[in-house]
Amino acid sequence: MDHSRRKLMIGLGAGAMIATTGVAGTSIIQTIEIDGKRYAMIHDESLCIGCEACVIACKETNNVPDSATRLEIIRSGPVGEFPDIRYSFFRKSCQHCENPPCVHVCPTGASYIDKKTGIVDVNPDRCVGCQYCIAACPYKVRYIDPVTKSADKCDFCRKSKLANGELPSCVEACPKQALIFGDLNDPQSDINIALKNKAVYRYKKYLGTKPKMFRVPDKFNEVQS
Ligand code: SF4
Ligand code: SF4
Ligand code: SF4
Repeated sequence: MDHSRRKLMIGLGAGAMIATTGVAGTSIIQTIEIDGKRYAMIHDESLCIGCEACVIACKETNNVPDSATRLEIIRSGPVGEFPDIRYSFFRKSCQHCENPPCVHVCPTGASYIDKKTGIVDVNPDRCVGCQYCIAACPYKVRYIDPVTKSADKCDFCRKSKLANGELPSCVEACPKQALIFGDLNDPQSDINIALKNKAVYRYKKYLGTKPKMFRVPDKFNEVQS
């Protein structure tokens, strides 16, 4: 989308948002029907060593610009008591929410849930760069791509690796098998088997966003609410 159209649509978008919500910034709860897979991920914080191989693989696979990232590993600590002491690692990336504020506030439909996969994605051809989705995302994982001028974020490698029948690049790159990816609608998927056998939590679940990023807590770390 060219820049003049983006500027025009930003103005129109502000009106659209207020018209939809009544008050700018009010949250909207909607149900979006998914008729295919429901891809999700587990980050096992008890296995993660913070090597950032996942971050590097993501950048390379998805041509993420230097000034942005789709995935961060945030280190905290040290925690525990000597000699049982270590750092903890928290994955910051899109949660692929089933009730995604970024989708609800988007005035153009550029931000959407792909119905075949349940993955929250962005259509750069429809994005006007208004940044409503960036403001609405409680996980702060979106950015404006400096080249395309479109909002962007993790898409579970939907358009790169998944399109070739491969796993997301972060999952493939992880040397500790700390990332598990799969379809929640398939009872036999690795992720469902893992979810039956591991205690997990979801970050900011209380917001009602229904995040599909599950986390196995590090026994040394306090679970983030
Ligand atoms: S984490 Fe943010 S960008 Fe991702 S689906 Fe949820 S609200 Fe949207
Ligand atoms: S994807 Fe985000 S930046 Fe793009 S039009 Fe939608 S709300 Fe605006
Ligand atoms: S590649 Fe695996 S072990 Fe390394 S930081 Fe990422 S999730 Fe953690």
